[in-house]
Amino acid sequence: MKKSYIMTPGPVPISNEVLMEHGRPLMHHRSPEFSKIFIEVTDKLKKFMETENDVFILTSSGTGAMEAAVTNAFCKGDKVLVVNVGNFGERFKKMCKTFGLNLLSLDYEWGTAAKPEDIEKLLAQNPDIKGVLVQHSETSTGVINDIESIGKIVSKTPAILIVDSISGMGASELKVDEWNLDIVCGGSQKALSAPTGVAFISISKKAWGFIEKSDIPRFYFCLLSAKKYLQKNPPQTPWTPAISIIVAMNKALDMFFEEGKEQVYLRHKVNALAVQRACEKLGLELLVKNPSERGVSVTSIIVPDSIDGKLLTKTMRLKYGVTVAGGQGKLQGLIFRIGHLGYVNIFDVITAISALEFALKEQGWKFELGTGVVEAQKVFYENNYMQM
Ligand SMILES: *Cc1c(COP(=O)(O)O)cnc(C)c1O
Repeated sequence: MKKSYIMTPGPVPISNEVLMEHGRPLMHHRSPEFSKIFIEVTDKLKKFMETENDVFILTSSGTGAMEAAVTNAFCKGDKVLVVNVGNFGERFKKMCKTFGLNLLSLDYEWGTAAKPEDIEKLLAQNPDIKGVLVQHSETSTGVINDIESIGKIVSKTPAILIVDSISGMGASELKVDEWNLDIVCGGSQKALSAPTGVAFISISKKAWGFIEKSDIPRFYFCLLSAKKYLQKNPPQTPWTPAISIIVAMNKALDMFFEEGKEQVYLRHKVNALAVQRACEKLGLELLVKNPSERGVSVTSIIVPDSIDGKLLTKTMRLKYGVTVAGGQGKLQGLIFRIGHLGYVNIFDVITAISALEFALKEQGWKFELGTGVVEAQKVFYENNYMQM
């Protein structure tokens, strides 16, 4: 018998309800039947992101939305500031270089968050900066950035703010309009807990001004085409969209609103705390030292010297059916990451910690079996969060 648990920061577990929708017979993307769902999903995504801005559904993984942001918003040679706190910040840097932008980067040690005052200083010193690009939740380290403060700073300048909230939204609070975020990227396979393959992106009025002037070549991800098709009656996409995933997302969004966003954020907070405290109780060290910089989507744990990290995650996956992630980029082999975003509950967390304990024991790590599990249970109990 084999039962598996996916505890990675994307893709994440998917509920049976969403999978059933995903398995519905295919409808045509120009049919009235699909059109109704497409309009609903677009509207629900706006509510999900707390915005009145235009929201476009793209057929790609999350990176496609990042690329759409970079290629649509700027002109060749524009000066942009990438705020880099990890591997996804590096991705933004590579993209900006690929498309001929004049890159300025603000790099932080991996495992720490960006300081909004540093961004303020750089913007003052470089009034020609056209855009600031930053991650909300940096999935390679587990850090969360203070997007609200960054939004306040950038909105006072002529620059636009581009936020990769792919692993942030739906797990942590995100208020696109209230926080003045010009372009925000999301993906189907993160906290929304739908299948992989759809990205979405919101565009503010200020950002449209940039998009209309942009001269970087693009075709598939052209947002002006996307806008033209969204304005058709009924609204459509220029190319064939990922029909089944959009149908599945409709259900996933309904489930998000049914649970209630405050409740969803609370569940993520308690799950994260349970994982973090359990790991510390087992004598493991977390990568993110400052608790206020720890996000709720993923926890990065440092591999102790006496432990083989690759073997640890392999044992968890093959022997116990619990898939966790290794390190990315320069943290490869140095950390492992337990994802706890999306359709994850108290018992998924307890199962993951339990599997971690068995795998640690096999490599001779000294602790009493059950120590982490008990600590996780205490966190749920203390927070009065013993829900399914
Ligand atoms: C998952 C993720 C992405 C997108 O990755 P894809 O594999 O293209 O979906 C981008 N940024 C962050 C912070 C992510 O967590």
